[in-house]
Amino acid sequence: MLAAGAVFAMISCQDARQKSSEETPAEKPNIVVIMTDDHAIQAISSYGSELVETPHLDELADEGMLFNQATVTNSICAPSRAVLLTGKYSHLNGVATNKARFDSSQMTFPKVLQDGGYQTAIIGKWHLKSQPTGFDHWNILPGQGHYYNPDFIKEGKDTSYQGYVTNIITRLSKKWIKSRESEKPFMLMMHHKAPHRNWMPALSLLESFEKRKFPVPETFYDSYEGRPHLENQKLTVARHLDYQYDLKMPCDTCPVAPINSWAPYYYNLAMERMTKDQKERWFDGYEDDIEAFRDTTLDGRALAEWKYQRYMEDYLRCIVSVDKSIGRLMDYLESAGLDENTLVVYTSDQGFFLGEHGLFDKRYMYEESFRTPLIMKYPGVIPSGDKSNQLVQNLDLAPTLLDFAGVNIPGSMQGRSMRPLLTGSGENSWRDAVYYHFSEKGWGVASHYGIRTQRYKLIHFYDPVDQWELYDLKQDPLEMNNLYDQPAYQAKIKHLKKRLKELQEKYRDPIIK
Ligand code: CA
Repeated sequence: MLAAGAVFAMISCQDARQKSSEETPAEKPNIVVIMTDDHAIQAISSYGSELVETPHLDELADEGMLFNQATVTNSICAPSRAVLLTGKYSHLNGVATNKARFDSSQMTFPKVLQDGGYQTAIIGKWHLKSQPTGFDHWNILPGQGHYYNPDFIKEGKDTSYQGYVTNIITRLSKKWIKSRESEKPFMLMMHHKAPHRNWMPALSLLESFEKRKFPVPETFYDSYEGRPHLENQKLTVARHLDYQYDLKMPCDTCPVAPINSWAPYYYNLAMERMTKDQKERWFDGYEDDIEAFRDTTLDGRALAEWKYQRYMEDYLRCIVSVDKSIGRLMDYLESAGLDENTLVVYTSDQGFFLGEHGLFDKRYMYEESFRTPLIMKYPGVIPSGDKSNQLVQNLDLAPTLLDFAGVNIPGSMQGRSMRPLLTGSGENSWRDAVYYHFSEKGWGVASHYGIRTQRYKLIHFYDPVDQWELYDLKQDPLEMNNLYDQPAYQAKIKHLKKRLKELQEKYRDPIIK
């Protein structure tokens, strides 16, 4: 039997939905898409994180809808951005790996919005090699960008700013909203570099989390039994993080040579950008860690856990800056009277491993990197404080935003508008499975594709290996037990393979011959 409070909550939720479907704002909404780079849901308190508090993201979730099972179609930076822009899978938008150049002549949702009377802008990370098109204003980081005193390309012209990248992107975003033509609706993409590797925090946060001890995740010491391809990857916290580049220990304390041959070059490049004063404050901030590390003789699990602690401190410090940025932008929208008629989206280009399976990074179809945060707020239209467990993907964002803007969704977009889910009218007819395909080479990660339903996930690692995996996410949410060879699951596997092939045909993935 439901408790009285729960019944009341259900009724209130239904009321809110009915109200929202009746209230259609006369004006086109402004749209703000906030995207971060590599932000795991494990580092957002409204997703249940115990690692960090994210009050501003939590406020967004309280005022809008949080998607518990939002995933990406290809868990890596540039491909995910191309999916967001086009609403198409990587094999059709041409950006299947970070090495590809985005064909800027193709249809994107900002172009459709622009044609529909919107002013459009992108500020921050772009990462697609070609110049942005479909934007009235663009000011982007070249490549991955830098955390300190970063260079930007402002509408084709090289420029640079002093300070910390997350704060700069926030400031430039507010400035653009302020300077827009106020009679037209706008769409702004505020794309943060943070919290991308090598996790360089703001100077003001270098001492936060110092006294917190982060316990390693339950799967940190995963032995990869039943998943032998995982033994080939080079993305473990224990063996592959760099002492200097990733963990911020000066080289004279490093017990071994750099693990990655490129790391010293990129570390020096990042540090050389800092002013003398910034460098002094940087090394002051890390002084205690550096001194302690010089004197220790850690090894084995103790050393791995020390690395995990260092990794978490810097990653979470970057998250704190991102969260503050969201607070600042939301405060600005409110003070400018724009909060009521603005649809705000918060998402990341994918999830990230925070030590689960012993890993950092992304790429895999395992839950931590496959899932991505997705929170959407539109006062009076999207019910506040609601959560959805539907299987939505980054593929769906472009058609969703066009739908809310009241413009036509191009037929070539493969995603579906989430508007019925967001306004509470279409939960029963949503999809029952999503498709994933990752093919970037490097770091020892095998190419793979797969299907995920509400309960099961079937993955085929096909290059350079040939291994299948099946997980029952209800029984095994941490994905430690590959059921592929279990006799009891053969009928389930046969069914999932059929569904997988159907999805590959539906989405026209040339992987099927
Ligand atoms: Ca990324």
